[in-house]
Amino acid sequence: MSDIAPSAPSTDRYTKSAAAHARARKVMPGGVSSPVRAYKAVGREPVTVVSGQGACVTDIDGNEYVDYVCSYGPLILGHAAPEVSSALAKAAQKGTSFGMPTEAETVLAEKIVDAVPGVEVVRFVNSGTEAAMSAIRLARAASGKNNIIKCTGCYHGHTDSLLVSAGSAATTLGVPSSPGVPQSVTEHTLLVPFNDLDAVRAAMQEHGSDIAAMAVEPIAGNMGCVPPAEGYLQGLRDLCDEFGIYLLFDEVMTGFRVDYGGAQKLYGVTPDLVCLGKVVGGGLPCAAYGGKEEVMRQVAPDGAMYQAGTLSGNPLAMAAGTAMLDSLAADDFAVYAQLEATAATLEAGLREAAAEAGCPIYLTRVGSMLCPFFVDAEGDEVHNYADATATRTDRYAAFFGTMLDEGVMLAPAAFEAWFVSTAHDEQAISQTLAAARKAFAAAAAIA
Ligand SMILES: *Cc1c(COP(=O)(O)O)cnc(C)c1O
Repeated sequence: MSDIAPSAPSTDRYTKSAAAHARARKVMPGGVSSPVRAYKAVGREPVTVVSGQGACVTDIDGNEYVDYVCSYGPLILGHAAPEVSSALAKAAQKGTSFGMPTEAETVLAEKIVDAVPGVEVVRFVNSGTEAAMSAIRLARAASGKNNIIKCTGCYHGHTDSLLVSAGSAATTLGVPSSPGVPQSVTEHTLLVPFNDLDAVRAAMQEHGSDIAAMAVEPIAGNMGCVPPAEGYLQGLRDLCDEFGIYLLFDEVMTGFRVDYGGAQKLYGVTPDLVCLGKVVGGGLPCAAYGGKEEVMRQVAPDGAMYQAGTLSGNPLAMAAGTAMLDSLAADDFAVYAQLEATAATLEAGLREAAAEAGCPIYLTRVGSMLCPFFVDAEGDEVHNYADATATRTDRYAAFFGTMLDEGVMLAPAAFEAWFVSTAHDEQAISQTLAAARKAFAAAAAIA
């Protein structure tokens, strides 16, 4: 993605953020701890945040924003949710890390096993990256095979074998998408387009005897939000069964988000291996991988597949995750109906605002994940990464900048999902839609 020339912010309301960013840049690459936060894709200077409460974040200049980043997914109850904060405060009083077993791990593990159909046994790790890396190692260990299949544009963290982009058109073999990743690692990763079962079958027919796993985000959430086509996930299940390949659902984003049991529950397709993260840690660094008992028993020390972690199963993360899951399960999972209603109102309002402004969009939504793609023309659709990257990032940049100036915080890149939380109330939505009317007009003004 090319960088976009900075557009001048409408006021000097970002003075302190600009100074904070200049200071940060001296000591950290891009002044950030993760690249998207530097705003390069939208040609602006990043805003430095000091606090969050409910649906809102406040920046260092004192500006308030309705927030749809929500930490890129974890904060399904909004910022500083009292249930989570008080559980954290209580846990912190009793020590922050032991390197010894605690009951808190078993409690959260039991909740995960109860909730997620594909998980019978689970191992905690510290990030989604680590979960995906470990699940792939496990699939290889358990199958004795080397290759994996992944979908172009699906993100499974930044582990070497998954930092792969499409090579020349005639082959499914990937090439490293970052310097520092050896070709000898990525040559074991086969790439197929999302939502394309024929491509998966072809890859399995060609390389089937040496494929350990097919990895997929069941709802692609790192190329905007791209739902699976009707029958796609069941088709993957059938192909994996036919060829004897493990099906890995990376539910780091979708787990406990689109349904308490994840996308696998929503669509009724059960994978062999599952990655969880984001919501499961309640906003703390925590993730997990799990699956069928027979596979998971190959993880050390029950089995030989080595994987470990000093801070894994951290008591603060376990407390936050447990409080989060308890809140989500309360009153017969009532929050999911609330999230659906709020997100549906937002969706309808965004469609109306875009239409009024004459700005063509293709809006996707699954529960509280959504994305308005800035397509070229009304009627264009987005079903895979090629479609997503063909959309108008210049229009998104203009939309983003206006939303920011109007007090709505979106992800500073076109290919991120928006996240609605239970803290997004009527007022937050109407403030968002008022800003969106201006922002769609600004986007449509770019020829
Ligand atoms: C966020 C994400 C990851 C990576 O998780 P980190 O905690 O950022 O390492 C992996 N897979 C999916 C689907 C994600 O959305």
